[in-house]
Amino acid sequence: MKTENKFEKNAVDAIVIGAGFAGLYMLHRLRLQGMRVRVFEAGDGVGGTWYWNCYPGARCDVESMQYSYSFSEEIQQAWIWSERYPRQDEILKYINHVADHLDLRRDIQFNTRVTQGEFQSTSNTWNVQTSDGQTHTARFLITATGCLSASRVPDVPGLNDFKGQWFHTGQWPKKPVDFKGKRVGVIGTGSSGIQIIPMIAKEAKELVVFQRTPNFSIPAWNRPLSIAEQDAWKLNYAEYRQRARNSRSGILYDYSTRATSDVSNEEREAEYERRWAKGGANYTHAFNDIFTNRESNDLAAEFVRNKIRSIVKDPAVADRLTPKDHAIGTKRICVDSDYYKTFNNENVKLVDIRATPLEAISPQGIQTSDANYELDCIVFATGYDAVTGALERLNLKGEKGQNLKDEWTSGPRTYLGLMSVGFPNLFFITGPGSPSILTNVVVSIEQHVDWIARCIQHMNAIQKSKIQAQAPAQEAWVQRVNDLAKNTLFPASASWYMGANVPGKPRVFLPFLGGLGTYTEICEQVISDGYRGFDFPSSL
Ligand code: NAP
Repeated sequence: MKTENKFEKNAVDAIVIGAGFAGLYMLHRLRLQGMRVRVFEAGDGVGGTWYWNCYPGARCDVESMQYSYSFSEEIQQAWIWSERYPRQDEILKYINHVADHLDLRRDIQFNTRVTQGEFQSTSNTWNVQTSDGQTHTARFLITATGCLSASRVPDVPGLNDFKGQWFHTGQWPKKPVDFKGKRVGVIGTGSSGIQIIPMIAKEAKELVVFQRTPNFSIPAWNRPLSIAEQDAWKLNYAEYRQRARNSRSGILYDYSTRATSDVSNEEREAEYERRWAKGGANYTHAFNDIFTNRESNDLAAEFVRNKIRSIVKDPAVADRLTPKDHAIGTKRICVDSDYYKTFNNENVKLVDIRATPLEAISPQGIQTSDANYELDCIVFATGYDAVTGALERLNLKGEKGQNLKDEWTSGPRTYLGLMSVGFPNLFFITGPGSPSILTNVVVSIEQHVDWIARCIQHMNAIQKSKIQAQAPAQEAWVQRVNDLAKNTLFPASASWYMGANVPGKPRVFLPFLGGLGTYTEICEQVISDGYRGFDFPSSL
């Protein structure tokens, strides 16, 4: 009997790259419009970020009731979360549930990477090559590759000769790693490092943390989430979701309307204390000038520095853990469970690799300029080529054969973060120049997916085969994104928001800082103005 290959026909209406939150919703949304869609996913399951980042301690720092899809009342009412902040495995379970509920898997080809894409000017279609050697054609190509998916293992000499095991948090093995009785080194103290370090410390015989830059972290105060609390939230879900969409970050934070100087010293400290006790990234919204006024920022930062000094018993270790080189919040703020406290453990050692640089990896462990650390395992919590990395790795060629990576050597250029001039019919979900990683990304994803789906529906209605961004509109948008950043403390920080963590990457502030609510209004206005800034040059 002939078994039918579900992907026998290699021509579809749209190809979506990635089966995380963005890719799954895009597939669902376009299917509702009667389109034939194929999704390519490198992993063997859905989930994207939450599929790959299955390291111990991985958890989202947006609260469970907010970090989920809002498009289906049925799904949001039925799903039950267990904790204030969702664990990675619970989010993954949720995403799998959505994929099953909407029967999405039949249009997803797993274990398949997109290796190249070329726009065909003669047919206004994209030809896409995949890692299984196939070529596929579609009218539209939509990237749902995630902003934090191109993981980076730094180029440290000797890694190949290391005799132990090594891992990157963003490519964590599916089988649990056993650290019991082992000597473990962790490189990196960003959000991933700050989550995994307390977990490894509980198991390992010895844990050596190699820190280049200390980070600010606010306690999560994670706790179980009662059914009563969830039911109360669900009663008003529609209203909360709408407020989140209109907000700056897509998260219902308590945004202060007061400047730091509006209050007395006592009131200011009480406000910091109140927010610290509540937990989470809400802390950086204690006053409305923390991101724009260095003195205000210093006061908010000093409060956290004092907390670190009060938690960490050894004053020398506390000092090494205290961030002094950047304004609080201008590198992504971390949210932790017992991070600083972990450095009071006898089995945990902190090595400042700014003072004693990491020189090489030997077969036995890590060599710094003044010591050799013998290790059984090395964990790289060294981050990502954020926002642009995954897009540039796709090897996409526009209408003149130009490569997207080459076009962006001085920084990404997009119109609204949705399209780039010279690459017709190519949409980015949460692309550079959109609010993306400054927000609750699920809210930003829904906004982008809805916009793209409406745009495609409009093209079908007016019988157009090609959409392209106009160069002047793109130039003005890039300028606007840069100008917004210039008026803040962000550009002064060597953060991944600025591309500063990747050697050779241009220093450009990558997301749109004007807020999600404002951004959504702009996108709506663009539609009302007849897709202002876009051309539809060819008919079907
Ligand atoms: P990250 O914030 O970029 O942190 C990477 C760490 O590795 C930094 O401490 C960095 O030091 C260090 N590092 C990088 N290259 C190095 C090198 N060559 N030698 C020594 N140290 C090096 O990456 P991440 O922790 O994976 O987090 C990335 C983003 O993912 C977060 O900011 C957040 O948006 C998201 N995330 C969220 C959660 C959550 O929701 N809780 C959890 C994990 C990740 P420098 O600072 O000196 O560059």
